Amino acid sequence: MEGKCPICKKNGNLRARIISGKYISERCTDCLIEAGVGIERGVSSTSAEYSRERQREDFRKDIIQPYIGNKPNRDFAQAYPDKAKEYFTETELKEMGI
Ligand SMILES: [Zn+2]
Repeated sequence: MEGKCPICKKNGNLRARIISGKYISERCTDCLIEAGVGIERGVSSTSAEYSRERQREDFRKDIIQPYIGNKPNRDFAQAYPDKAKEYFTETELKEMGI
């Protein structure tokens, strides 16, 4: 998504990321790297792992919706366990195996 980065206030392609279960809020590439998401510039042994992760993330929408149709979205619950408790009932969470 094109827009103004909330961190550095520069215009750029804004992205949110989930790295190792930690949600990194929407920001520009530079700030993502700053936030420790800069595996791109890291050692080569992690690059394959990174590109797999990136492909998986690109496959998702930038923002994961809590519901798909009227079904609870398990990806959302896994990505945002704190928010999931607000969105979903205990039964829904159990059904998703959360
Ligand atoms: Zn920025």
